[in-house]
Amino acid sequence: MPNFPNVIKSKLPKVGTTIFTIMSALANEHKAINLSQGFPNFETSPELISLVNKFMKKGFNQYAPMQGLLSLREAIAEKMLGLYSVSYSPDTEITITAGGTQAIYTAITAMVKEGDEVIIFEPAYDCYAPAIELQGGIPVYISLKSPDFHIDWEEVKRVISQKTKMIIINTPHNPTGAVMTAADMKQLEKITSNTDIVILSDEVYEHIIFDGLKHESVSKYPKLAERSFVVYSFGKTYHTTGWKMGYCLAPANLMTEFRRVHQFLVFCVNTPIQHAVAEYMKNKDEYLNLGAFYQEKRDRFIALIKGSKFTYVPASGSYFQLLDYSKISKEKDTEYAIRLTKENGVASVPNSVFYHNRLDLHLLRFCFAKTDETLEQAAEKLCAI
Ligand code: GLN
Repeated sequence: MPNFPNVIKSKLPKVGTTIFTIMSALANEHKAINLSQGFPNFETSPELISLVNKFMKKGFNQYAPMQGLLSLREAIAEKMLGLYSVSYSPDTEITITAGGTQAIYTAITAMVKEGDEVIIFEPAYDCYAPAIELQGGIPVYISLKSPDFHIDWEEVKRVISQKTKMIIINTPHNPTGAVMTAADMKQLEKITSNTDIVILSDEVYEHIIFDGLKHESVSKYPKLAERSFVVYSFGKTYHTTGWKMGYCLAPANLMTEFRRVHQFLVFCVNTPIQHAVAEYMKNKDEYLNLGAFYQEKRDRFIALIKGSKFTYVPASGSYFQLLDYSKISKEKDTEYAIRLTKENGVASVPNSVFYHNRLDLHLLRFCFAKTDETLEQAAEKLCAI
């Protein structure tokens, strides 16, 4: 089609196709082992699949309620009470979304106005900044401090201004695998008290946490919970990233604003899956054992690459492991990630893409949500370098 000239002034002029799409396509093209985009390469439980099937056959194939199925919202409320001793009302404080990304976009859209500042920590998951910018908001970037990627709270205090509308946190953290501590939460509580700052807490890897660490949800801290949107993902918990199902929790006044946007963004999300997950969530072991399940994979991956030239700080959570390739090459991480895919047959994600200024620490992100066989094959290739 010929392009009609001069009509497009991009609202996101600097944004290209996401790195996940690019690297997965490159992995396919070169038949490389794909440890780039974060998704499990093993199946979800057959029982969950049968449940979806059952509800489809039973005729639950029309719109769900806008805010999500009541039975699912009730199951979530019960889970939050059990895990974090916090009570969210299924009626007014829980909404089912089309994945974590939609929940994040909706919360940002509902809150951020022209000129508002939003603090985000880098490396940052790539959907935060564009959502802020589309609302006319201004992302204010703070770097996490390597090698363990912790937050410097003094720096946070320094950058908070009258215009700060929101702080976005992410624990366990994608892409670094860092985990926020109780001390971090206390700091956040102190810094935001007596302000109107809203928190958006991306906790999609809540169960994927290792070495005896406990997930510190903002919901556990009443002074934080009262100003927070908390985002979760069924995709991460049930190995179903392609189903694009998640949810958001917030106090009623914030959730009212969230739903004002949600109803015109998607209106509602997949009905049979909501029925199936509501029933499947009764099996608590499935999520309670997820940390141990993935710790085994992290440990296996790390043990397998021990003999390689890559160095690392073991991830404390998430299903990503950063590897430092400084001993192998001085190339830019974006170039090295491409070469590693083409020449060595392993696809990863260069860490610099998660920085607005493309800060290159010579780190690549590898997803270990893979079968043992895939991890072994990938490690063999990485060790041969
Ligand atoms: N969350 C996944 C990751 O970090 C990818 C999501 C996506 O492809 N948009 O790799």
